[in-house]
Amino acid sequence: MNDCIFCKIAAGEIPSFKVYEDDKVLAYLDINPFSPGHTLVIPKVHSSCLLDTGADTLATVMAAVRKVAAHLKTALPCDGFNILQNNGEAAGQTVKHLHFHIIPRYQGGALDFVPHPGDMAELAALADRLRFQ
Ligand code: 5GP
Ligand code: ZN
Repeated sequence: MNDCIFCKIAAGEIPSFKVYEDDKVLAYLDINPFSPGHTLVIPKVHSSCLLDTGADTLATVMAAVRKVAAHLKTALPCDGFNILQNNGEAAGQTVKHLHFHIIPRYQGGALDFVPHPGDMAELAALADRLRFQ
């Protein structure tokens, strides 16, 4: 999709704080993290939300979500994580390209699904530390 920001990130036309990439999936740090290490996982092929995503793509992305979450748990490290996936404006979806949020959670941390504008230098350093294959 020409005007889709996540398609542009997937194509490398817009930079991202990449954590993981394969031929079908990209994972990168959210620039407005709910918590340190907040990561988005997207399919490289465009679909707008869960309901217009084919089963094969969904299976591929979910396998990547699991892989990236397992990595974050040990590499950050974090104590747990939430998976969030919004569908439609009413549900808070702002980017119409399917994406799964992996929101790291830390023992004793309050439930706080609030975006905190990220420090770009800190995000770059964290992505460098977390990047894996
Ligand atoms: P949604 O509310 O649609 O589920 O989440 C969209 C997320 O994408 C938000 O958390 C927002 O911070 C993030 N986001 C929007 N634009 C960009 C961008 O250009 N780069 C990155 N890394 N994240 C973005
Ligand atoms: Zn897209």
